[in-house]
Amino acid sequence: MKKKISAFKIIKTALQLISFLLLPGLFIDSFNGIKALVQALSAGNADFAVLLPALFPSVLLVLATAIFGRFFCGYMCAFGTLGDAVHLLGNKLFKIKYRIPEKADRKLKWIKYLLLAFLVFTWITGIGVLSGWSPWDAFGSLLTLPPDFTYAFTSITVGTILLLLIVIGSLFVERFFCRYLCPMGAIFSLASLLKIAKIKKAKTNCGSCQICTSNCKMGISLNPRSVVNSGECIECMECVAACPRNNLKLSVASKDAAPLLASIAAASMIGLYYAGNLGVSAYAASLNQTVISETLSEADAATASPEISSDGTTDTQQTVSEESTAVSTPAASTSAYTDGTYTGSGTGFHGGTTTVTVTISGGQITDIQTVSTRDDNKYYTRAFSSVTSQIISSQDSSVDAVSGATFSSNGIMSAVADALTQAKE
Ligand code: SF4
Ligand code: SF4
Repeated sequence: MKKKISAFKIIKTALQLISFLLLPGLFIDSFNGIKALVQALSAGNADFAVLLPALFPSVLLVLATAIFGRFFCGYMCAFGTLGDAVHLLGNKLFKIKYRIPEKADRKLKWIKYLLLAFLVFTWITGIGVLSGWSPWDAFGSLLTLPPDFTYAFTSITVGTILLLLIVIGSLFVERFFCRYLCPMGAIFSLASLLKIAKIKKAKTNCGSCQICTSNCKMGISLNPRSVVNSGECIECMECVAACPRNNLKLSVASKDAAPLLASIAAASMIGLYYAGNLGVSAYAASLNQTVISETLSEADAATASPEISSDGTTDTQQTVSEESTAVSTPAASTSAYTDGTYTGSGTGFHGGTTTVTVTISGGQITDIQTVSTRDDNKYYTRAFSSVTSQIISSQDSSVDAVSGATFSSNGIMSAVADALTQAKE
């Protein structure tokens, strides 16, 4: 049995590393999808055909979590893996295994639900009080090669400070952020309450040593339980591995299963994500092409001579080359906009879709956030801070592209222009 567990641990660590390298922003994409959905629903302009690419990661992960449990958190989330690595380092450096008292731990876990509720409130009302506060954005900018320290320490200073505090907390408390602060974790926790994969503990053979409890990454008290129904459980199998009597088991639909099945479930999720993403990317590319064509047609119609020739085309109809279509950024008028938050998409690097939300307050563009992007993180991060700050200061979607990140810049500009077309009165 011991051999099986250690093989399982090796596979689990490998899955975490693969996910960290290949899907470092999946938890952000998934949360941004939920944000876009809430904003679109609250604004009454939810167009699911347009939202689908942005919603895909959220739908996949929340559905999988609802059925099987939080395998994503246990095996795939880059931020969770960061927490694990930092805690391991803390253990080696300080040799302290600090455990927050159970009562305090239970109370602190409510913070993430309150945070989620507050974030939903800001999305619905459009108040940008937390702009620049995201530790996830700081994490994203520091993950680029080379790390974008300028963006992290000037544009999102508060987010970077929070990230550092989270790292310090993770040195001493295992999965510090996941337990107490992660708003996506709050969603997963609620979604997984009816999951079919659970940890079961036979009470008859239990020596009451509490080894399982003291090894639980999420601070769940396992002693009084015969089955873990808690949404806090991330299916990490640490308790299963720790019990000297092999008293804990993974149970799927009430049948005992090998811990290795947990890794297989996580690996299947990675595969499913990639397979689904291929279809979604193709769909997004065709959708985006339609949006650009329609926008260009509208622009042509607005500038063209009203005289129509006998063959039904205008005399001044322009020929738009493929290249200029790909990098065109339809400028939006700076005339009055209706307050609210709008979602728009544009074409970024290699024809991938960039989706952003644009917040209008007092008729002015006050905030621009990324919902999703297929761009290379390095170029996108570089383009985003410059392009969005120019757009906000000029109140115009057509600004200077960042040299060396032209396609990413154009993707952002056209996505903002698309969002602004919905904001026009
Ligand atoms: S709780 Fe949040 S940060 Fe932790 S693993 Fe889950 S999604 Fe990632
Ligand atoms: S109960 Fe077991 S599987 Fe669930 S989080 Fe705790 S240690 Fe991991």
